Formats: sequence, C-alpha cells, structure tokens
Amino acid sequence: MLVDGFGRELTEIRMSLTDRCNFDCVYCHNEGLGDTRGPMAPRDEEMTTDEVVRVLSVAADLDVEAVKLTGGEPMLREDLEEIVRRAPDGMEVSLTTNGSFLPGRAEGLVEAGLERVNVSQDAVDPEAFAEITKSGAYDRVVEGVDAALEAGLDPVKLNMVVFEGTVEYVPQLVDRVAERDGLRLQLIEYMPEIAGHPEWAVDVDRVHEWLDDRADRVETREMHDRKRYFVRAEDGDGEGMVEVVDPVENADFCESCHRVRVTHDGSLKGCLNRPRVHPMGELSEAEIRAAFHEVVGDRVPYYGEFMVEEDGEWVRNDEYVGEPLVVEHGRVTADDD
Ligand code: SAM
Ligand code: SF4
Repeated sequence: MLVDGFGRELTEIRMSLTDRCNFDCVYCHNEGLGDTRGPMAPRDEEMTTDEVVRVLSVAADLDVEAVKLTGGEPMLREDLEEIVRRAPDGMEVSLTTNGSFLPGRAEGLVEAGLERVNVSQDAVDPEAFAEITKSGAYDRVVEGVDAALEAGLDPVKLNMVVFEGTVEYVPQLVDRVAERDGLRLQLIEYMPEIAGHPEWAVDVDRVHEWLDDRADRVETREMHDRKRYFVRAEDGDGEGMVEVVDPVENADFCESCHRVRVTHDGSLKGCLNRPRVHPMGELSEAEIRAAFHEVVGDRVPYYGEFMVEEDGEWVRNDEYVGEPLVVEHGRVTADDD
C-alpha cells in the first residue's frame, strides 16, 4: 500500500474517463482540467478501455480498494459497462454522473458490477436546472434517478453544488430526499478552481446552521468529522439523509483524504489543485506504477490556495499549483507542453 509523507494511505482513486460532457454546468471544475462541452465524439487522448483496465489493475496491486468513475460525463463512454465489468475483483466501483444517460443503462451497469451511483442534481425545476447546467435534460435526469433506484443502486446520492446560483434551491432538494425513499443528498461546497468566480462562493457555515434547524437529528461521522443531518418530510414518516462536503480550506477534510485522481488521458493528480504526473508512452504497468509512487510522494498536507487575489483580480497561484510532470522510463521530468 502506498502511504504519503503525512501518513495518509492511498485507498481510493477517482478516475475521469473523458472530459467531454453533454452539459455545460456554469460551476464545473472538470476535475481541474478546464472547459468541458465540445465535440461529443471520443478524443484521441482518452485512455482506451485496455489502458483504463491496466491503470485499475496497477492500483489494485497497490491495494487501492475503490474507484469512482467520473468525467466530464463518464456515461458518454460506450465502453463504460465493459470497464465496470473488467475492473479488478474486490475493487468497489462507483460512478458520478449527470444522470441523463441512466435510463436504459442503469440495469446493465449493475449487472456489470456497479455498486453505487451519485447523480448531480442542482435544482428541482426544469427552468432553474437549465439555467445552471445549460441543458434541457431535466426530465431525463429525474428518470435516470428512478432507473438507478429500480436497478437496485439504493441509496442513490444526489450531488448538489452549493453556490450563489443554487443556494436558494437547497430547501427543495432537502425536501426531495426527505420525501423519497432511497435518496440521499450531498451538498458540495463550490470550489472556485478552474471554474473561476471565487465571488460565487457562499458561506457554508450558514448551510450547516440551516440544516441544524431543519434536521430532526444530527450525527457526526468520524471521517472528515462530517455531520449527517436526518430530515423528515412534513407529511410522511420517511427520513432522508443530508451531508455537506466542504473541502475548501478545511484541514480536517484533507487530513482524511485517501484518494488521488486519474485524468482521462491517464495522468495522475494528488489533489484537484495539484500538478499532473503523466506516464508517457503506452501507459505501461511500470510507468503507471512509477507515476503512482511519484504523485503520492508529492502530496501536500493541505488543500492550499489555488487562486490568490492580486491587485483586485483573482489569478492562478502558480507557486502552489506547479507545473505538470512526466514519468518516462521511470524518470520524472517537467512537461514542456
Ligand atoms: N458529469 C458528472 C456529474 O456532473 O456528476 C461527473 C463529473 S462532475 C465534474 C463530478 C462532480 O463534481 C459533480 O458532482 C459536480 O457537481 C462536482 N463539481 C463540478 N464542479 C464543481 C465545483 N466548481 N465545485 C464543487 N463541485 C463541483
Ligand atoms: Fe461538469 Fe458534470 Fe456538469 Fe458536465 S454534468 S458540466 S462534467 S458538472
């Protein structure tokens, strides 16, 4: 098992399968890689099915226990079912999706071995949804959530990014999970990386305070010291669960972070904000393994400042973000691109 310089074991990877997306959410950080929407056809730089499976198999050899498949929109990959099926035995496979392709595919994914799903949903009415995601697919997403529940992926976690443009919809999403069995809600603090606009951030403590009032009971989980809010529907006996994911400048969050990221082109990142380490060539097992060692060795203890204010403008903090690195034949060099 790989352990970083601060004692954190690497137990999980978050793997982006593509940076293409059929939505264009205004807040999207695209796993730290910039813009998403664009041509929908597969691109050359995306890992092939075999390469994805090879990275997963090296990760399994390094005792990584779980992978979360993400993107861009991972369901744009037609080989997703095959990837899930060929993931190493014993590795938990979960998926984060915008949900619009789940109708018709949720069942096949479960048959292939998918164990959990998160579906992004930032609003409960089509107009507000369209404004945030630049997509008219609201009904498909709602159908997708149903399809996931029917396929047995219960509990389905709804992901909502909380920022200026969505904060007013929090009560409605909370009601939705209180009313509907099998749903949970993750309120994700807006991270200004790549998406820019630090001014869109809202004070997440206010969200916690509101939930404290709204909840019937509150539990604190050991991991990340994270609270779980249990909420009841006004006219029912069901109970929903809400969590707040608040990594921004949260040292407790970083202290219990056991994951690294794999980008769609096979680079590794120790954190959303950290430089990429790219195994060159054909992504051989040896190079992938060397990249894992490099990126885990390069992890920092704390989230850090991705953007800093200079003369009234927010700019990228190059000192913190650093330059991309390349692993070639086991050697690490700077990426000239
Ligand atoms: N397309 C899929 C989806 O939307 O779920 C997967 C990729 S998306 C980049 C993965 C997660 O990152 C989603 O839950 C999304 O809401 C979240 N996310 C994207 N941009 C974010 C930001 N600026 N701050 C916080 N979370 C963000
Ligand atoms: Fe980004 Fe996901 Fe929205 Fe696509 S659906 S723009 S990847 S957050």
